[in-house]
Amino acid sequence: MILWVATRNRHKVEEIGGILGPGYELKSLLDLPDFPEVEEDGATYRENAAKKARVLWERVKAPVFADDSGLEVDALGGRPGVHSMRYSAPDPTHAKNIEKLLGELQGVPLLQRTARFRCTLVHRDAEGNEQVFEGVVEGVIGFAVQGEGGFGFDPVFILPERGLTVAQMSAEEKNQISHRGRAVLALRRHLEKNPPAAA
Ligand code: IMP
Repeated sequence: MILWVATRNRHKVEEIGGILGPGYELKSLLDLPDFPEVEEDGATYRENAAKKARVLWERVKAPVFADDSGLEVDALGGRPGVHSMRYSAPDPTHAKNIEKLLGELQGVPLLQRTARFRCTLVHRDAEGNEQVFEGVVEGVIGFAVQGEGGFGFDPVFILPERGLTVAQMSAEEKNQISHRGRAVLALRRHLEKNPPAAA
Protein backbone atom coordinates (compact mmCIF):
# COMPACT_ATOMS: atom_id res chain seq x y z
CA MET A 1 0.00 0.00 0.00
CA ILE A 2 1.04 3.61 -0.50
CA LEU A 3 1.67 5.42 2.76
CA TRP A 4 2.65 9.07 3.03
CA VAL A 5 4.92 10.36 5.78
CA ALA A 6 5.00 14.05 6.63
CA THR A 7 8.75 14.64 6.66
CA ARG A 8 11.39 15.78 4.23
CA ASN A 9 14.18 14.34 6.37
CA ARG A 10 15.79 11.72 4.12
CA HIS A 11 17.39 9.96 7.11
CA LYS A 12 13.97 9.56 8.74
CA VAL A 13 12.34 8.32 5.51
CA GLU A 14 15.03 5.63 5.19
CA GLU A 15 14.73 4.67 8.87
CA ILE A 16 10.94 4.37 8.65
CA GLY A 17 11.05 2.55 5.30
CA GLY A 18 13.36 -0.05 6.88
CA ILE A 19 10.94 -0.60 9.77
CA LEU A 20 7.81 -0.84 7.61
CA GLY A 21 9.39 -3.34 5.22
CA PRO A 22 8.63 -4.20 1.61
CA GLY A 23 4.81 -4.24 1.81
CA TYR A 24 4.66 -0.44 1.81
CA GLU A 25 5.48 2.18 -0.77
CA LEU A 26 6.59 5.07 1.40
CA LYS A 27 6.11 8.54 -0.06
CA SER A 28 7.26 11.69 1.69
CA LEU A 29 7.45 15.44 1.34
CA LEU A 30 10.52 14.83 -0.82
CA ASP A 31 7.94 13.79 -3.45
CA LEU A 32 6.08 17.12 -2.99
CA PRO A 33 8.72 19.83 -3.46
CA ASP A 34 6.17 22.66 -3.27
CA PHE A 35 4.67 21.47 0.04
CA PRO A 36 4.76 24.34 2.58
CA GLU A 37 6.79 24.23 5.80
CA VAL A 38 4.46 23.32 8.69
CA GLU A 39 5.39 25.17 11.88
CA GLU A 40 5.82 22.80 14.84
CA ASP A 41 4.31 25.19 17.38
CA GLY A 42 2.30 22.70 19.46
CA ALA A 43 2.76 22.25 23.21
CA THR A 44 2.97 18.46 22.83
CA TYR A 45 4.42 15.88 20.44
CA ARG A 46 0.88 14.81 19.66
CA GLU A 47 -0.27 18.30 18.66
CA ASN A 48 2.70 18.70 16.33
CA ALA A 49 2.31 15.25 14.78
CA ALA A 50 -1.47 15.70 14.34
CA LYS A 51 -0.96 19.07 12.66
CA LYS A 52 1.65 17.73 10.22
CA ALA A 53 -0.53 14.69 9.42
CA ARG A 54 -3.65 16.84 8.88
CA VAL A 55 -1.97 19.30 6.51
CA LEU A 56 -0.51 16.46 4.42
CA TRP A 57 -3.81 14.53 4.43
CA GLU A 58 -5.64 17.62 3.16
CA ARG A 59 -3.24 17.62 0.20
CA VAL A 60 -3.14 13.91 -0.72
CA LYS A 61 -6.44 12.57 0.75
CA ALA A 62 -4.78 9.18 1.27
CA PRO A 63 -3.32 7.35 4.30
CA VAL A 64 -0.65 9.53 5.92
CA PHE A 65 1.25 9.71 9.15
CA ALA A 66 3.54 12.13 10.95
CA ASP A 67 5.75 11.73 13.98
CA ASP A 68 7.20 14.09 16.49
CA SER A 69 9.82 13.12 19.00
CA GLY A 70 12.24 14.44 21.55
CA LEU A 71 14.61 13.73 24.40
CA GLU A 72 13.36 13.98 28.00
CA VAL A 73 16.08 14.31 30.63
CA ASP A 74 14.95 13.71 34.22
CA ALA A 75 17.60 15.96 35.81
CA LEU A 76 16.30 18.81 33.60
CA GLY A 77 12.65 18.28 34.53
CA GLY A 78 11.92 16.59 31.19
CA ARG A 79 13.63 19.18 28.99
CA PRO A 80 14.36 19.63 26.13
CA GLY A 81 11.30 17.45 25.28
CA VAL A 82 9.11 18.84 22.54
CA HIS A 83 11.72 21.60 21.99
CA SER A 84 14.60 19.16 21.35
CA MET A 85 15.28 20.26 17.79
CA ARG A 86 15.65 23.93 18.76
CA TYR A 87 17.27 23.35 22.16
CA SER A 88 20.37 25.37 21.21
CA ALA A 89 18.40 28.13 19.40
CA PRO A 90 18.80 30.60 17.69
CA ASP A 91 20.93 28.55 15.26
CA PRO A 92 20.53 25.01 16.55
CA THR A 93 22.62 22.12 15.26
CA HIS A 94 22.88 18.58 16.59
CA ALA A 95 26.46 19.29 17.75
CA LYS A 96 25.42 22.46 19.60
CA ASN A 97 22.45 20.67 21.17
CA ILE A 98 24.79 17.99 22.55
CA GLU A 99 27.26 20.57 23.82
CA LYS A 100 24.50 22.44 25.63
CA LEU A 101 23.14 19.22 27.13
CA LEU A 102 26.53 18.09 28.45
CA GLY A 103 27.03 21.59 29.87
CA GLU A 104 23.69 21.58 31.68
CA LEU A 105 24.46 18.13 33.11
CA GLN A 106 27.95 19.01 34.30
CA GLY A 107 28.46 17.57 37.79
CA VAL A 108 25.37 15.35 37.58
CA PRO A 109 26.35 11.74 38.44
CA LEU A 110 25.54 8.85 36.11
CA LEU A 111 22.68 7.48 38.21
CA GLN A 112 20.88 10.83 37.95
CA ARG A 113 21.39 11.17 34.20
CA THR A 114 18.36 9.07 33.25
CA ALA A 115 16.50 10.09 30.10
CA ARG A 116 14.21 8.79 27.38
CA PHE A 117 13.46 9.36 23.75
CA ARG A 118 9.72 9.58 23.13
CA CYS A 119 7.98 9.44 19.76
CA THR A 120 4.31 10.14 19.11
CA LEU A 121 3.01 9.12 15.72
CA VAL A 122 -0.36 10.20 14.32
CA HIS A 123 -1.84 8.21 11.43
CA ARG A 124 -4.78 9.44 9.35
CA ASP A 125 -6.51 6.87 7.22
CA ALA A 126 -7.97 7.58 3.79
CA GLU A 127 -11.20 8.82 5.42
CA GLY A 128 -9.32 11.20 7.74
CA ASN A 129 -9.77 9.18 10.96
CA GLU A 130 -6.87 9.62 13.38
CA GLN A 131 -5.01 6.91 15.28
CA VAL A 132 -2.18 7.65 17.71
CA PHE A 133 0.84 5.43 18.52
CA GLU A 134 3.71 5.99 20.89
CA GLY A 135 7.21 4.57 21.39
CA VAL A 136 9.69 5.15 24.22
CA VAL A 137 13.27 4.05 24.83
CA GLU A 138 14.93 4.55 28.22
CA GLY A 139 18.62 5.36 28.69
CA VAL A 140 21.17 7.58 30.39
CA ILE A 141 23.10 10.58 29.10
CA GLY A 142 26.84 9.89 28.92
CA PHE A 143 29.65 12.32 29.73
CA ALA A 144 31.10 12.58 26.22
CA VAL A 145 30.23 11.87 22.60
CA GLN A 146 30.71 8.21 21.52
CA GLY A 147 29.98 6.70 18.09
CA GLU A 148 29.35 7.96 14.58
CA GLY A 149 25.95 6.52 13.67
CA GLY A 150 22.41 7.90 13.94
CA PHE A 151 21.75 11.61 14.42
CA GLY A 152 20.69 14.15 17.03
CA PHE A 153 21.47 13.10 20.59
CA ASP A 154 22.39 9.50 19.64
CA PRO A 155 26.13 9.92 20.46
CA VAL A 156 25.38 10.72 24.14
CA PHE A 157 22.34 8.45 24.68
CA ILE A 158 23.54 5.24 26.36
CA LEU A 159 21.46 2.07 26.57
CA PRO A 160 22.50 0.72 30.00
CA GLU A 161 21.74 -2.92 29.12
CA ARG A 162 24.03 -2.71 26.08
CA GLY A 163 26.68 -0.35 27.46
CA LEU A 164 26.68 1.45 24.10
CA THR A 165 25.36 4.73 22.79
CA VAL A 166 22.73 4.58 20.05
CA ALA A 167 25.38 6.08 17.73
CA GLN A 168 27.53 2.96 18.32
CA MET A 169 24.76 0.65 17.08
CA SER A 170 23.91 -0.35 13.51
CA ALA A 171 20.83 1.17 11.86
CA GLU A 172 19.06 -2.23 12.16
CA GLU A 173 19.81 -2.46 15.89
CA LYS A 174 18.61 1.11 16.41
CA ASN A 175 15.35 0.41 14.57
CA GLN A 176 14.67 -2.56 16.83
CA ILE A 177 14.91 -0.61 20.07
CA SER A 178 14.26 3.03 19.20
CA HIS A 179 11.26 5.14 20.17
CA ARG A 180 10.50 5.75 16.48
CA GLY A 181 11.00 2.08 15.67
CA ARG A 182 8.51 1.07 18.34
CA ALA A 183 5.91 3.65 17.28
CA VAL A 184 6.24 2.71 13.58
CA LEU A 185 5.98 -0.98 14.45
CA ALA A 186 2.76 -0.27 16.37
CA LEU A 187 1.44 1.51 13.26
CA ARG A 188 2.46 -1.46 11.07
CA ARG A 189 0.61 -3.88 13.35
CA HIS A 190 -2.46 -1.64 13.23
CA LEU A 191 -2.37 -1.51 9.42
CA GLU A 192 -1.96 -5.30 9.23
CA LYS A 193 -5.06 -5.74 11.39
CA ASN A 194 -7.03 -3.00 9.61
CA PRO A 195 -5.98 -3.11 5.96
CA PRO A 196 -7.35 -0.20 3.94
CA ALA A 197 -10.18 -1.25 1.61
CA ALA A 198 -8.60 0.19 -1.53
CA ALA A 199 -4.98 -0.69 -0.75
P1 IMP B 1 11.83 14.84 15.36
O1 IMP B 1 10.55 15.36 15.88
O2 IMP B 1 11.82 13.36 15.17
O3 IMP B 1 12.33 15.57 14.15
O4 IMP B 1 12.92 15.06 16.50
C1 IMP B 1 13.14 16.32 17.12
C2 IMP B 1 14.51 16.34 17.79
O5 IMP B 1 14.56 15.34 18.83
C3 IMP B 1 15.68 15.98 16.86
O6 IMP B 1 16.16 17.11 16.17
C4 IMP B 1 16.70 15.44 17.85
O7 IMP B 1 17.33 16.50 18.54
C5 IMP B 1 15.83 14.70 18.85
N1 IMP B 1 15.64 13.29 18.40
C6 IMP B 1 14.50 12.73 17.96
N2 IMP B 1 14.69 11.45 17.59
C7 IMP B 1 16.00 11.20 17.81
C8 IMP B 1 16.80 10.03 17.60
O8 IMP B 1 16.38 8.97 17.14
N3 IMP B 1 18.09 10.16 17.96
C9 IMP B 1 18.63 11.31 18.46
N4 IMP B 1 17.93 12.43 18.62
C10 IMP B 1 16.61 12.37 18.32
